[in-house]
Amino acid sequence: MDLGLADKVAVVTGGSSGIGLATVGALLDEGAKVAFFARDEARLNEALESLRAVHGDRVHAEPCDVLDKDAVAGFRDSVARTLGKADVLINNAGQARWATFAEATDDDWRAELELKYFSVINPIRAFLPDLEASEAGAVVMVNSLLARQPEPHLVATSSARAGILNLVKSLSTEFAPKGIRVNSILVGTIVTGQWEDRFKTRAPEGVSMDEWVEGLARDRGIPLARFGRPEEAAAAVLFLASSRASYITGVQMEVAGGVSRFV
Ligand code: NDP
Repeated sequence: MDLGLADKVAVVTGGSSGIGLATVGALLDEGAKVAFFARDEARLNEALESLRAVHGDRVHAEPCDVLDKDAVAGFRDSVARTLGKADVLINNAGQARWATFAEATDDDWRAELELKYFSVINPIRAFLPDLEASEAGAVVMVNSLLARQPEPHLVATSSARAGILNLVKSLSTEFAPKGIRVNSILVGTIVTGQWEDRFKTRAPEGVSMDEWVEGLARDRGIPLARFGRPEEAAAAVLFLASSRASYITGVQMEVAGGVSRFV
């Protein structure tokens, strides 16, 4: 299926790892020009070099903290200079905060709410004029199934994710007259750096990463009986970002192996 993304300019926040990196790769494979950022310069440059080796100067990256509004605005200017004005924005940067209500401090709550909201607000503010000028303006949020199915050990993350679900609906309505579609994916469990970090601190001695993840998938009763791959989340992101989804806005697509219990 031709997604119509060839020559479009796409921006991916948090593109150096996991779902973001898989999305950058998939967009490049579709012929898009892609810009991405993340904070860790070494990891960012490693990703950039390997992508440039295959895709040449259709890819651009710079270190940037999504919570630094001025830096995100500067990144927008640099993308416009190097690749052109953005048509597509993928808000992916972030991570979860493991804490129950008893464990979460006020600072944890503030940090989590700031991360979840401003990781979306800052890039949208910076790229909105470009998206509005595009004939194919689209925003896709990488959100979490926690937005609709909260977990007590991820209390602040779940609550903040629910707010983003609500925000997607508001933005899709406000931006529709500007020709910009806004959608999200709700990710269940995708094997990425986040899970590798958790494996290091939580897995029992002598258990491999694959065995640990298989056990978790079993314990959680995931109908497809496994965690997802970053490429599987990226495929859903690409569809929603593409002109193939031209009549779809304000929705969330689950990428969670069937684990949700709501209808
Ligand atoms: P990874 O840790 O593999 O990737 C996260 C990316 O975001 C990295 O490139 C990281 O780079 C970047 N990032 C994090 N914080 C910032 C920041 N403040 N500014 C700029 N870049 C940042 O995680 P995933 O691929 O798993 O996660 C992608 C998204 O999906 C996240 O929002 C996550 O919460 C969400 N998600 C993932 C799930 C999963 O099972 N994997 C489940 C539910 C949601 P750096 O650290 O160098 O800045």
